Amino acid sequence: MTVTVQAVPMFADNYAWLLRESGTGATAIVDPADPEAVLAATGHQLATILLTHHHADHTAGTDEVRARTGATVVGARADAHRLPRLYTGVAEGDTIAFGNTRARIIETPGHTRGHIAFFFPDDALLFCGDTLFSLGCGRLLEGTAAEMFASLAKLAALPPETRVFCGHEYTAGNAHFALTVEPDNAALQARAAEVTRLRAAGTPTVPSILAEELAANPFMRAPTAARLGEIRAAKDRF
Ligand code: ZN
Ligand code: FE
Repeated sequence: MTVTVQAVPMFADNYAWLLRESGTGATAIVDPADPEAVLAATGHQLATILLTHHHADHTAGTDEVRARTGATVVGARADAHRLPRLYTGVAEGDTIAFGNTRARIIETPGHTRGHIAFFFPDDALLFCGDTLFSLGCGRLLEGTAAEMFASLAKLAALPPETRVFCGHEYTAGNAHFALTVEPDNAALQARAAEVTRLRAAGTPTVPSILAEELAANPFMRAPTAARLGEIRAAKDRF
């Protein structure tokens, strides 16, 4: 294990993620929307800011955190026109160094056109913003069900032990909806019970394990893009 991860909760239900690489002590933050919360967690030691997508609840603190730490900002080249000023614009398959390890960029359009995820292969860590949630997926604000289906399929192909760090604590609500789609899914029932226990104790339900999502998340389990679109539309009305 070279990277350790700490949740930095902010607003009602957002998570930024603070990463430390043990070999060099390098630190990075994913989606620093609330600068005070981020700076309280990092101090002024911060090498890198990683942005999953342009929404303000993921990016709003970027410029202030950059100004106060000197961190470099990494985000999707395709969305550079509406992201905070980037130091490095990245695209599908690019690799960025982080201390002695690296992250691979996965483009995951659907929630937004330029959405990206960061995958750290050495530790099997995935930071996927508002694409894949535990027991859910992001709203199709700028993309089609076909795009989200393809994005989730890319994430589904990662190693099953991958830990999935999404951008929101939405799991309890997602579980409630997911049980209406797959009421007889034993893996989903077990995960829903675990989520109830964790939330009652005030514990984050994120990260989850990719294998759990493949077994229990109806959006990951949708066999076709059309079915994914149906489930997503039902969730929008739920
Ligand atoms: Zn978003
Ligand atoms: Fe969000």
